Amino acid sequence: MLYPDQFGKDPLFPKHSDFAVVYKDELVGQGVITYRSFRQGEVIARMAGHIVHEIRQHTLQITPDTHLFDPYFSGYFLHSCAPNISLNMVDFTVTALRDIAANSYLYMDYAETEDVLFKQFPCSCGAPNCRGWITGRREIHPAAIAQRQSGQSNQVFR
Ligand SMILES: [Zn+2]
Repeated sequence: MLYPDQFGKDPLFPKHSDFAVVYKDELVGQGVITYRSFRQGEVIARMAGHIVHEIRQHTLQITPDTHLFDPYFSGYFLHSCAPNISLNMVDFTVTALRDIAANSYLYMDYAETEDVLFKQFPCSCGAPNCRGWITGRREIHPAAIAQRQSGQSNQVFR
């Protein structure tokens, strides 16, 4: 198990044989890789961690004022605008959004769980629908602010 014993022994907890937190590259730092394949729709793991009341690097939002601090597994999921996993912050399951091959990185969309990001950042995921600049789901895209200030009509930014 990637989680220490204090979190209990859920059979869905990630095992060292199936997952690892590894250094990917200078641009994104560490990520989570899976050593086995998963089918689309499959629950691949359950998350655990410490409940905290502020946004930190490596936290995932549970409610607007509670966040999961998981420095063992889910805190290292990388972002993609075309993610291969989805997170359920009610039952803490992680589900494959499409078939995932062995030796793949796990990518979530940070805006799926986060109202506000610890830090906004430029995205280089390469997806055709890449939003370019990643914010939380309740944060306003800087381009939209600039456009509002210049008096132009509202436009949808992706
Ligand atoms: Zn992107």
